[in-house]
Amino acid sequence: MENNCIFCKIVAGQTGTELVYQDEQVTVFHDREPAAPVHLLIVPNRHVTSLNEISATDRDWLVQVMLVAGQIARQMNVHESGFRLLTNTGADAGQSVYHLHFHLLGGTQLNRLGWRGGGWPGN
Ligand code: 5GP
Ligand code: ZN
Repeated sequence: MENNCIFCKIVAGQTGTELVYQDEQVTVFHDREPAAPVHLLIVPNRHVTSLNEISATDRDWLVQVMLVAGQIARQMNVHESGFRLLTNTGADAGQSVYHLHFHLLGGTQLNRLGWRGGGWPGN
């Protein structure tokens, strides 16, 4: 638990954020400013700032992120229509929260959207 890390607080249940899924390794919740009809964040429970900070010892929960992404996509019913899983690393990518997170996006034709969701829901 990192002091003042909003995602550590969400993982610990210290905010009002509804958790979509949680196990010993990862936590899933809705992005508070959705860029698409389906926009979830999958985060490791352990505080890791970004992909810059991971090593081979993180293999287990990294695999769990991928397995959970597949499950959640199915649960949200975007597994057949299609979805995107991505992580922003550092300033050029626009990373704004420095607790590693994977965006799961779907529910619309994502190629029409600017990454920040400029095309949704506005038009
Ligand atoms: P980044 O820009 O770092 O790739 O993504 C951070 C994401 O976290 C943004 O899409 C932002 O809307 C979301 N976010 C930031 N703070 C909170 C929060 O307190 N609760 C939730 N649910 N999402 C947050
Ligand atoms: Zn954290």
